Amino acid sequence: MKLPDNIVFSDNIEKDLGEFLSERNYSQIAVLADENTVKYCFPLIEKALPQHTLIVIESGEEQKNIDTCMRIWGALTDAAFDRKSLLINLGGGVIGDMGGFCASTYKRGIDFVNIPTTLLAQVDASIGGKLGVDFNKYKNHIGLFRNPEKVFLDARFFDTLSDTEKRSGFAEIIKHCLIRDAEKFDELTKTPYEKLNLAELTRHSVEIKNAVVAEDPTEKGLRKILNFGHTVGHAIESYYLDKPGKKLLHGEAVAIGMICEAWLSMKKLPFSHEELERVTAYILSIYGHRPIPGQDIDEIIKLVKQDKKNEGDKINCSLLHRIGDCTFDIKIENRDAASSIEYYNSTTGIK
Ligand code: NAD
Repeated sequence: MKLPDNIVFSDNIEKDLGEFLSERNYSQIAVLADENTVKYCFPLIEKALPQHTLIVIESGEEQKNIDTCMRIWGALTDAAFDRKSLLINLGGGVIGDMGGFCASTYKRGIDFVNIPTTLLAQVDASIGGKLGVDFNKYKNHIGLFRNPEKVFLDARFFDTLSDTEKRSGFAEIIKHCLIRDAEKFDELTKTPYEKLNLAELTRHSVEIKNAVVAEDPTEKGLRKILNFGHTVGHAIESYYLDKPGKKLLHGEAVAIGMICEAWLSMKKLPFSHEELERVTAYILSIYGHRPIPGQDIDEIIKLVKQDKKNEGDKINCSLLHRIGDCTFDIKIENRDAASSIEYYNSTTGIK
């Protein structure tokens, strides 16, 4: 499948980044990293860089806000960056989304390059041009669409990622198979998780996301299928965000969301019970089971209702006709969403 020219799969990022920089005549270059990526990832690109400014921020979603942007804009301003300069974002989705946003707004927009270093950022955030920051309690509330000059994808960055972070990113790989590629889902289920080839699966995911986004870049229709698992999953993620000891990573919440929304698919569409059990068993085999206490469900449903994709009183969901075939804008009621979480709670025994 043909990918856009700005996507580069690299097994020698130092060389590929070096060549890109020598072809362009940037007046100045800055690298944005967090405290982990400066330690684990920066050494892989350092030699490719001419003189540059290094901007290091603390890691974590809590940093993805306008205050941190002000520090980044401040650093670019202090170093007198002009409109011919470049920002290289080296990190996970937080760095990519926020760095891209800062670059796109600094002096009405300078070039930026993304070097995603988590599995989640490579398989999901690397395509589609969504940039932005969180605002008050709302995720990605302030932002825009703009594509990086280049995205360099190198699987060697996964070597230093924790297992939990890898599993979180893997949820988006499962999602891409469930919405568009039944055969690949079959292959996943037949291969032990530890033996999966993440570099090959990353390319597969990027191809699927790219094909979907190319048809609908601004999410008017088809692109919504990428939200499978995210309507319920996102609400669960948000609900536990500020509950000490209960916080879930994005992919862990999406994994639960995909089980819930597979159940909703069976209720609303011809998705079969057998397929529901296959999807449930596979996801549980990777993520285990983490019941949602009954008293939390009402609050989670309130958050489901706030989803940006809803219209009026109805909840809009992307659901599966069958494995590998997803559709969007299926209306569901509050009680359906609640029942889907109750289904998830009842799945402990599914193998
Ligand atoms: P993240 O950027 O917070 O990275 C997760 C953790 O891994 C951080 O602690 C980071 O320092 C560390 N890390 C990064 N690379 C590492 C490496 N190679 N080795 C060791 N540690 C490393 O989070 P994330 O999970 O990558 O991304 C989540 C963010 O991405 C969210 O803000 C979400 O909104 C955004 N996102 C955006 C899109 C999009 O289309 N733009 C898509 C999906 C997610």
